[in-house]
Amino acid sequence: MSKSNAPDLWERDIITMTQTLAELDFQYCWHPFSSSDVPAKDRLVIVKGKGEWLWDDQGRRYLDGNSSIWCNIHGHNHPALNRALVEQVKKVAHSSYLGLANEPASILAQKLVNVLHSKTNLGFPRGISRAHLPRRVFYSDNGSCANEIAAKMAVQFFRITGQAQRKILVSFDNAYHGDTMLNVSLGGVSVFSEPYKDLRIKTHRVRDLADLKKLLAQKGNQVAAVFLESALAGAGGMIPHPPGFMEHVSASVRKAGALLVVDEVLAGFARTGPFLGCYREKVTPDFITLSKGLTAGYLPLAITLAPERVYQVFKGDYYSGRLFYHGHTYTANPLACRVGLENLVLFETTDVMTRVKTLSEEFAWELSKLSTMTGLETGALGMIGYIRVPHHRTKGDQARTECLKLRAKGVLTRPIGNTIVLMPPYCISSKNIRTLVQAIAR
Ligand SMILES: *Cc1c(COP(=O)(O)O)cnc(C)c1O
Repeated sequence: MSKSNAPDLWERDIITMTQTLAELDFQYCWHPFSSSDVPAKDRLVIVKGKGEWLWDDQGRRYLDGNSSIWCNIHGHNHPALNRALVEQVKKVAHSSYLGLANEPASILAQKLVNVLHSKTNLGFPRGISRAHLPRRVFYSDNGSCANEIAAKMAVQFFRITGQAQRKILVSFDNAYHGDTMLNVSLGGVSVFSEPYKDLRIKTHRVRDLADLKKLLAQKGNQVAAVFLESALAGAGGMIPHPPGFMEHVSASVRKAGALLVVDEVLAGFARTGPFLGCYREKVTPDFITLSKGLTAGYLPLAITLAPERVYQVFKGDYYSGRLFYHGHTYTANPLACRVGLENLVLFETTDVMTRVKTLSEEFAWELSKLSTMTGLETGALGMIGYIRVPHHRTKGDQARTECLKLRAKGVLTRPIGNTIVLMPPYCISSKNIRTLVQAIAR
């Protein structure tokens, strides 16, 4: 390991390296959603980043073609986000949120609620009754937890209010809401849940709107919550919802008296264009879950935004049975909340929203050119691009092979099934948008 590429841990002689970082990874680490067959020589170790670029320990540079799994929005090593983090770490890195509050968590909560309820281009669009919108911030650490928390809140809310029969949780085919057992049970992607099916929690899956309406007509008064991925089925294959779908789901769920959980973990923070994916249509969410873009790809943090009328029924003393029993050691971590706050400040004070609009148009144009050139099906939804690679029986996992080739050309991304996903940070230059898409053409 040469000193020039090494992080300063080595420079201070804290660690003596006898193996490469890739060898250490091979020998000691286990990766999510990844094959353990990959030999050490093919393992990529990232050591630094700047803007839309990442560097490995060999000094090679890569375009971060999927925003480090869909979460980085302003780029790596961002001066304002770095400064916020450093300021906070000098004050306090963590204190418990069980019974105690902290400075950035309180301010971030206020700011988020103000932003979502505002009349700016970040707030809910016209025609949505703001009185119904959620405004209570419950913190956790990841998108899976944010959704699981919404489910627990919904079921407990109905128990407290004398409707204990409302306990069915509903989700759609192709949906992805995370990896804990409740989310795996809600999820419609069977490969993710098959090995654990004996642990499955009972939920109800519907195919489409008609199927949902049928369920609500038959058992509407037993449904606690319906989970809706905002704007598109993401991990289920980057499949945009048909026009009108979200709006109809929203209206049907409201009519049935159940609660609607809009999962904005992927679509939130302008990933599909508007600040929240559900702004594309007239949707009135009861719960909104946020995570991926919340700290702009810096630290793990999630929010379950709950309706005030749900929060209010949880009022009671320690013996009332009305406490919400869910919390993690690192709930509302001050470092993460401080960066989350700075992220919102960037949305308010810089031209991010305009950039997203301009870049989305360029991205869509490049992807349509790619389709014309190659005959492949391509598509774009805001800053999400997808390319469907035909499945060759003989060639096996074509999209994965393509992504490995892209890596060799200096573009990092991961496929979903036969779909190559391109999801760059919003700081990417127009030139690099072209580089990204054209890497596939080549
Ligand atoms: C990624 C994702 C989740 C899960 O979030 P994690 O932070 O990975 O647990 C949930 N819902 C959607 C729509 C997602 O894209």
